[in-house]
Amino acid sequence: MEILEENDLKVRFILRDAPIAFANSFRRAMKSLVPTMAVDYVVFYMNTSYLYDEIIAHRIGLIPIKTDLERFNMPERCVCNGEGCPNCQISFRLNVEGPKVVYSGDLISEDPEVKPVYDSIPIVELYEGQQLMIEAVARLGTGREHAKYQPVSACYYKIVPNIVVNENCKNCGECVKACPRGVLKLDGKLKVSNVLDCSMCMECVKVCEENAIRIEETENYLFVVEGTGALPVRTVMKKALEILKEKAEEMNKILKEII
Ligand code: SF4
Ligand code: SF4
Ligand SMILES: [Zn+2]
Repeated sequence: MEILEENDLKVRFILRDAPIAFANSFRRAMKSLVPTMAVDYVVFYMNTSYLYDEIIAHRIGLIPIKTDLERFNMPERCVCNGEGCPNCQISFRLNVEGPKVVYSGDLISEDPEVKPVYDSIPIVELYEGQQLMIEAVARLGTGREHAKYQPVSACYYKIVPNIVVNENCKNCGECVKACPRGVLKLDGKLKVSNVLDCSMCMECVKVCEENAIRIEETENYLFVVEGTGALPVRTVMKKALEILKEKAEEMNKILKEII
């Protein structure tokens, strides 16, 4: 892997020499197998706002929460057998009276380390005399179960092609004009200026009358992964690879048993 750009919320990298099935498994593991914390149920003690309990609960569920994977167990693997204990869940309290817009930052966590990633996500607007009093309980889960547990908001890849120009090229520049991404340039000779921008649209191939340019698929991929902030993207990538490795080892074991 070659990292092109990295911060906690976004990583752009090239994955080289991997079958496309692996690239896609990696993408899917990052999206739906790496656990994060999200609110799973909400107890309403008082809600006199204009919104139904269900709408407010749904909005709270979608708020990204800073996740510590070392500290919490998946409920089904916890000592409490999923009933709920401090090792697998955490509570947030909220008691607000209007007039006021209630934000994610108004949720008071049992543990200051585990809190919403952003304080400024609006939940509901309360008017004069209205009140919202709730307890929200968060736990670990995976995107396979519900999209609110996805650690990434965008996670995609495209093939990085090989652009081959052969000796038939007359350097006429027609393909340069036809390319919508500015990938090709004529600098005395036809050159590829930025292959990562190529969308494999084949316009260059279509306009070339000399049959001089070819776009070949490779086993290299440009990945873009954007996180929700629940986990740093690098942690998501590492965890996804660990999960894939575990799955592959399990599969090997099963195959050995069968053979
Ligand atoms: S259109 Fe064909 S011949 Fe003209 S510059 Fe491009 S590859 Fe070369
Ligand atoms: S395939 Fe499309 S994007 Fe890529 S170089 Fe050719 S015209 Fe440009
Ligand atoms: Zn537990």
